[in-house]
Amino acid sequence: MQITSYGAAETVTGSCHLLEANGQRILIDCGLYQGNRELEEKNQPPLPFDASTLDLVLITHGHLDHVGRLPLLIKGGYRGKFHCTPATRAVTELILRDAAHIAEEDFDRDLRKARRQGREHEVPEPLYTEKDIDLLMQRITPDMGWENTLHFHGIEIRFYPAGHVLGSAWIEVFAEGKTVVISGDLGNRESPVEADFHLPGPCDAVVIESTYGNRAHRSQQDTVDEFAQVLQQSIKKDGKILIPSFALERTQNILYVLRQLQDEGRIPLTPIYLDSPMGSRITRLYENLGGDFNPDVQQDLEQGDRPFAPENLFVTSSSGESRRLNDMKGAAIILAGSGMLSGGRIVHHLKHHLWKDSTSLVIVGYQSPNSLGGRLIAGADRVRIHGEEVVVRASVHTIGGFSAHADQDDLLAFLEPTEHARVHLVHGDLQVMEAFQQELESRGRQVVINRFGETYTVGQNL
Ligand SMILES: [Zn+2]
Repeated sequence: MQITSYGAAETVTGSCHLLEANGQRILIDCGLYQGNRELEEKNQPPLPFDASTLDLVLITHGHLDHVGRLPLLIKGGYRGKFHCTPATRAVTELILRDAAHIAEEDFDRDLRKARRQGREHEVPEPLYTEKDIDLLMQRITPDMGWENTLHFHGIEIRFYPAGHVLGSAWIEVFAEGKTVVISGDLGNRESPVEADFHLPGPCDAVVIESTYGNRAHRSQQDTVDEFAQVLQQSIKKDGKILIPSFALERTQNILYVLRQLQDEGRIPLTPIYLDSPMGSRITRLYENLGGDFNPDVQQDLEQGDRPFAPENLFVTSSSGESRRLNDMKGAAIILAGSGMLSGGRIVHHLKHHLWKDSTSLVIVGYQSPNSLGGRLIAGADRVRIHGEEVVVRASVHTIGGFSAHADQDDLLAFLEPTEHARVHLVHGDLQVMEAFQQELESRGRQVVINRFGETYTVGQNL
């Protein structure tokens, strides 16, 4: 069996790995590169391999950095099927339709601007449109339940819960007498909502994500205590409490924790607005599809309770409703996207409220250093939003422990039962992977950091 990484190699995003066995070529994920322009340019076709030669595609979970280039496979001549869990299919559809919609809007805007300057030929076409998503969805088969084995030309494929986001899986492939495990993204075992990932058994190679291979997360208890404290202070100021939130996983986690804090009387009842159409759609999937949740969440759902709906939750849908939140008086918690402040309704809320000292901005997700969020965390006293300068008088708080990813301890726990397998590190910054490699080697493990496009044979010395 052979493994080649065509994405998330020496970097975090763009996940895309090829397995070759029994003369079959199986691709696992085909995600977007995200983060900066240099990385994003790698999303432009052509793909770094011939899609028409693939025999099967597997999807670990619906995050854009794992599914964002799937439509390009069909455009590139791939004729086979895509397999995943039922929840991953549902999440993937929402995420990709949203991405295609934004790409089409951006294209129209860039084109109008370029026309005025007489350089419309310079505007790149959107990577894909909603029509391409229609074609893709017809080919995604959601048949990978946890008990199923997919038999494909003498290859056995099984999916196991990865505890990262709704539907997320890691994948075991058995062929030619060898077993390979591909981790996809592994969850934080302290997540308040997602259940712990399942552990693999003995195998020959593990391709594992290493986003946080060099660090330990803050404990969930400390994180929730800090969150409660920040909310108490902020509610007293009688202003808006803005929480930028990723639609998938973070929104549901925050809603669940808010409900708990209110039920326990640790924060006063304050109106909570979910001002994210994508966030509410995905929350409905969490409620309706169920999944591998922590026992308390599972029990709530089985009893017909709504664990992601605090009693004073209001869901806004139209942009008019969202705008009306601006004029509302008094304290209110507003969850809105995008989680990285790169666009979406949260940016409008920031523009209207950052200049007030009664406002609190509570950051619960990663912000890259040079982005708007990064500058706010660094203490900028003024920022530019939609071309206007906005003075920052709001208090800015960062709550670090709400990660959807495994930390070093979690990753080591996952690897422990795979003792004799070679470890292939992917999906991490190079320095992080080098630190994790050292840690693993000190424990006697054989480790390789997958290089882009390099082929590794399972069971053969490097
Ligand atoms: Zn992910």
